[in-house]
Amino acid sequence: MFINMSVVIPFISQLPMPEQQEWLTQLNTKLAPHCVVLPSQMTAEQIKAAEVAIIANPEPSDLTLFSNLVWVQSLWAGVDRLFKEIPTPWFKVARLEDPELAQTMAEAALTWSLYLHRQIPQYMAQQQQCEWRQHKVKPAAQCNISILGLGKLGALSAQRLADNGFNVSGWSNSQKTLANITCYSGERGLTAMLEHCHILIILLPLTSDTEKLVNQTFLAKLPQGASIINFARGRIIDIEALVNGLDNNHLSHAVLDVFEHEPLPATSSLWQHQKISVLPHISAPTNLASASHIICQNILGYLNNKTLPNTVDSKRSY
Ligand code: NAP
Repeated sequence: MFINMSVVIPFISQLPMPEQQEWLTQLNTKLAPHCVVLPSQMTAEQIKAAEVAIIANPEPSDLTLFSNLVWVQSLWAGVDRLFKEIPTPWFKVARLEDPELAQTMAEAALTWSLYLHRQIPQYMAQQQQCEWRQHKVKPAAQCNISILGLGKLGALSAQRLADNGFNVSGWSNSQKTLANITCYSGERGLTAMLEHCHILIILLPLTSDTEKLVNQTFLAKLPQGASIINFARGRIIDIEALVNGLDNNHLSHAVLDVFEHEPLPATSSLWQHQKISVLPHISAPTNLASASHIICQNILGYLNNKTLPNTVDSKRSY
């Protein structure tokens, strides 16, 4: 229906203008003769005609103008805010599924697991005190790393860690079978996994089921001395419970890449906590080149033959 017609596609985001411009240039180069524009550049008729939009963490209310949307393509993998504010959207949502993103996350999982496994936080603290003290190096095979979430990012991260010799397990909604990974599901599976966990990596989507999942009761199931890495969303952790766990030495260290409020305010005590490493949401940034290629393929599939890419199950909201 759209073949040979130039379609105007809104780009709805809160990205800073230079970043927005970079995306618009990439997308327009790949989608010509179709046009990707900001909503402010669209006529009322074009807004009404829009069936597909490209979104990057938009103000969900900005979507309400587009009453005839059939689907939206997100530039990010996480779409929790959209489903929280528009629980039953009138359009389908395709989140970014980019193998490059999964590779970047797997690299982060390995980097920060090694950081904990090779006790880098302790050596950094010792340096502050001019303290020359050597700790035993445990073989990777004796370090149990557990991953919450075995989806696109969690499964590849688990594989990368197993390839590096770690003893890896993972937990997901549905039971999985993955080579060299011990897979768990359900409440009992979670408890069994946590009992033996030395490093816990969070790669779950934020949903009503996972919000504050990692609370005091949850943390108590981890053995003394365990560490946590959160790459998913800040609200999955009850931050007070985490800080208590670190302060009372039940937990060794936390690497936090995501926070309830981002950027993390300068006044937050998390910045100064000796047992917390703060990262500015950088574990797996969207790769402009690979992501724009995938997004344009998805959009052309729809414009050329009305094929929709994989979309998020709105009941599960991930
Ligand atoms: P995904 O492919 O949707 O996988 C999600 C995994 O979590 C699946 O294995 C799913 O189980 C499991 N899960 C969901 N709810 C669960 C529950 N209540 N109990 C147990 N398991 C549950 O997501 P993804 O692409 O791997 O991404 C995960 C998250 O990473 C995103 O939602 C986003 O928030 C975050 N992220 C962060 C960054 C960063 O830079 N920090 C970058 C990209 C993404 P099933 O497989 O059984 O469905």
